[in-house]
Amino acid sequence: MRSATAEGIILKNSGLGEADCILWMLTPAFGIMRVLARSGRKSVKRFGGRLLLFNRLKFDYSRRREGRTAAIENAKLIESFPEIFTDAARFGRCALFAEVFLQAWGEGDPAPEAFEFFLEYLRRSEAHRESADRHVLDAFRLLEILGHRPMLDRCASCDGSLEKSDMFSVNEGGSVCLICAKNESDRTAGQGGSKPFKVSSAVRRTIEQFRNTDPKRLHRVRFTPKSRTEAEKLWISNIQALLGRTPKSSDYLDKIRKNLTG
Ligand SMILES: [Zn+2]
Repeated sequence: MRSATAEGIILKNSGLGEADCILWMLTPAFGIMRVLARSGRKSVKRFGGRLLLFNRLKFDYSRRREGRTAAIENAKLIESFPEIFTDAARFGRCALFAEVFLQAWGEGDPAPEAFEFFLEYLRRSEAHRESADRHVLDAFRLLEILGHRPMLDRCASCDGSLEKSDMFSVNEGGSVCLICAKNESDRTAGQGGSKPFKVSSAVRRTIEQFRNTDPKRLHRVRFTPKSRTEAEKLWISNIQALLGRTPKSSDYLDKIRKNLTG
């Protein structure tokens, strides 16, 4: 039996049998870490309310053998985010990022940057300092951390200038010039899969402009409702390509949006 200590944020908590639960944690040292909490569902005495979603824990764990699921021995709550649960959209945005990390980050692959990013995002959400506009920039920052930030300043296919082009190609991983967009459309005509689509140059420029901006100034970003929808679609199409499906939390956010406007 080997014991050790780790720190992490709970991305997912699901019941296992009547008493136990499995936690998926985002940890700086081991990336996604799956741990078993014996009596995590039943025993209030053992873990209390410490195993709630997004809680930041420091915990001791042990493994019976190498490669087996680790079991939590005890957990200390470092930080919790109750305010996030008081607003459906705020919760949905946090759940979306949690879901993407869960799907796209490997178990055992260290994730100090991802951990810092998500912790800061949770703190900002908790303090009501998150906005839908800022969320778009955070979403692209998340893609960057995952190593999948789309190229938006040059043609991702031929490296040429994007003058007059407002086309984006998921297959090429970025904006493409008009010639490359046409070539790709011709090449893939009649086949399934994604085709180059329009992304206005204003959206592209706003996202690029804020890319290297001091994080303290990012709250200044403003999209029009139309360009924000466009930027969100752009991000989602990149995430779909990365995960091979649409995140569930994204459908949930869409439903909330429809209820608010309809
Ligand atoms: Zn090109």
